[in-house]
This record gives sequence, C-alpha cells and structure tokens, in this order.
Amino acid sequence: MPTRSLNDLPIEGKRVLVRVDFNVPQSPQGAITDDSRIVASLPTIRYLIDHKAAVILMSHLGRPDGKVNPAYTLAPCAKRLSELLKQNVISAKDCVGKEVEGLVAALKPGEVLMLENLRFHPGEEHPEKEPGFTEGLAKLADFYVNDAFGTAHRAHASTVGVPSLLNGKSVAGFLMDKEIGCFNQLLTDPKRPFYAIIGGAKISTKCQMIEALIQKADAVFIGGGMTYTFMKAQGIAIGDSIHEDPFLEKAKELLDRYASSGKLFLPIDLVIADQLSEKASFRQVKVSEGIPKGFQGVDIGSGTVNLYASKLRSAKTVFWNGPLGVFEVPQFAKGTQAIAHVLAQIDAKTVVGGGDSIAAIKAAGVEDKISHISTGGGASLEMIEFGTLPGVKVLS
Ligand code: AMP
Repeated sequence: MPTRSLNDLPIEGKRVLVRVDFNVPQSPQGAITDDSRIVASLPTIRYLIDHKAAVILMSHLGRPDGKVNPAYTLAPCAKRLSELLKQNVISAKDCVGKEVEGLVAALKPGEVLMLENLRFHPGEEHPEKEPGFTEGLAKLADFYVNDAFGTAHRAHASTVGVPSLLNGKSVAGFLMDKEIGCFNQLLTDPKRPFYAIIGGAKISTKCQMIEALIQKADAVFIGGGMTYTFMKAQGIAIGDSIHEDPFLEKAKELLDRYASSGKLFLPIDLVIADQLSEKASFRQVKVSEGIPKGFQGVDIGSGTVNLYASKLRSAKTVFWNGPLGVFEVPQFAKGTQAIAHVLAQIDAKTVVGGGDSIAAIKAAGVEDKISHISTGGGASLEMIEFGTLPGVKVLS
C-alpha cells in the first residue's frame, strides 16, 4: 500500500512533529564531521517552514542507552541546522514534559524547535520501560512526518509508536518518499541486467540479504571479509583471514545452489597481507592457491576487478552495499575504489547503501555520478530483505 505524502497534509498553522535522522558522525570534541544527514532533511523542513507549519524536530544521536548524557546532545545539530536554514532553531532541553509543551505552545508558524535526544529516555527504544513516553511525544503534534529512513527499520516510540497514535495524521517526508520509491523500484521493476555487489566484514549480517537479492537480481558479486567464509566452505586455505565458522554450512549451501548457475560470483584473486596496517607486506594471489598462515585476505585482486567490471558494464541497475576490502588502509582500498569508478562510468541506475560504501564513493570523488546514495545502511538491507520497514508500514 502506498504511503501518504507530505503534499497531502493541510499543515498551515499546525504543529508538525518530524522524525529526522540527525545521528551524525562527530569528532571526540563534539564537532559534526559530516552533516549529510542534516542536509538531506532540508527539503522537508523548508517545505514545512514555507507552508507556515510550526516545525518540531526529533531525532536520536548515538547510543546513550536511555540516560541523559551531554556527549550526545543534539544542540550542535540544531546549531548546524540553523546555519543551513539561515534562521533561528530553538533547542529544547528534553523531548517530552511540561517545559517542552510550553515551548511547543509558544512556537509560531514557520518557527523550528529541535527536541533533545530521544534516546535520553528509555521509552524511545523500549516503550514498555517508560509508560506515557510515546503519548508525551504524540501530544506535541497535530501531524507527524517521518523523514528518517535510516531509523525506519527500528520499531521505536518515535518511528512506530507516535504514528500509530496519530493514525491518519502521519505521512512520509520527502527524503523518506525518495528512499522508499527508489527501493520499491529496485525490488519490483528493476531495469535488467540487475546486479548486486555485496561486501563488508561478515556473512552473518548479510546472508539473508544475499539470498533475497539472488532472487531479485540477475547476479550477486561478493567481496570483503565474507569471501573467506565462502573459501573455507570450499576447503580452500584462508590463513588468518576473517571468517565465521557457524556460517560455513550456509555459505556452502549458497555456493551449491547458485554459483554454477552464474547467479553468485566470488573473487578469483585476492590481495593478502601480513597485517592490517600501512606497514604490511602484501601481494596478490589466486584464490585457488589459498592463503598461507601468517597472511589474511584484505582486498579483491585485479583479476576480480576486471571480471566484475566486465559484467557491470552491461548493467542497467546496480545495488552496492559494503566495501570489498579493508578500505580504511589505502593499500587495500584499490578494489573498492576501482568498483566505485566503474559504477560512476556505467549507464545504469546505481544505488549505494551503507556508511562504508558511501565513504568509498566519496573517497573516489564520484558521489555526483551515483543515481541514489541511501541515507540508511541497516534500513536499506532490511528493505531489500523484507520489502518494507516497520516505520514505513505504519504510514500506509
Ligand atoms: P560492514 O559494516 O559489514 O559493511 O563491514 C565494513 C567493514 O568490513 C569495513 O570496516 C572493512 O574494513 C571490513 N572489511 C572488508 N573486507 C575485509 C577483510 N577482507 N578483512 C577484514 N575486514 C574487512
């Protein structure tokens, strides 16, 4: 069922409570190091201001675990937002309670109030631990807008509880609409060939998604740390490489079912290193040679880059999640960087999700050449796996 959109709401003069995702990376001193998430929410916030709504923003930041912790205050985000909007953003000291209700009552059309970190209250992540928390948020608003795709896979008070209470008065924001539209198209009507590239550290966090993608895509290309669980499952030596023994059976099952039919591709060569640092001694080996003790796999090799690139050049749709090597070490980022450049060059709809893959795209300087950079890592994985998210379903 489609979600209702912000354009459908009569918001003039109304109080609109918006769930944004301002969970931004910060330096140890608390400075925002990447404001992309704040920037991504601007179209919705500006629309509300321009249409004379009183705008109340709520978000989480970090993991304060239900306790007030000044290290996770949203005040720096309110300040950054105020600079971007070129207007004052009022900061509340809490997200529920009498003082907040007073600030909301005084809020005029076109003004913006930023509530304090939702996760300072246990009721955000565990509504049963704080009766009345969800109601305390819902009573602030005439309408609810969810623009936090990155948190829509979590059934929390601010993502599922509040819109359930404000049933019929809850819609998706513009960023959320864009994300849902992109993934719906990818899952239901992708232009073909549709290829997926899956990397990252562990097979355990991604095997469900790999299975879901194998059903939808024409082929899935594997890289990153999960490669070594697949290799070990085939009886190939992996030296000291990262791997997950409990998933050997699963890896074998996926290989047996899909590798011979050309739906699942694994690296054919690798870069191996004696340590995970810039001082490492490293070299390229063929997968069939195996990895000796004292070495670990850290990147896909040049043959694998060529193999994957030759397939990707004919793609009409590509989804990418997870780096293909330990890309934080420059020497081991070559495979990931090469694939980022291939995606930038091809004439296809390219969708990238997950913080590390986005960082790789940015490091390669090709973010403008990617069709859609998703704001949700975990959310994009669950969207692929289940076709919807708790915070999206509740808006239908
Ligand atoms: P994920 O969050 O699952 O997408 O994993 C991202 C992390 O996987 C990055 O920090 C990479 O350094 C790591 N990674 C990728 N390839 C390897 C590898 N071969 N060995 C160890 N870690 C890896």
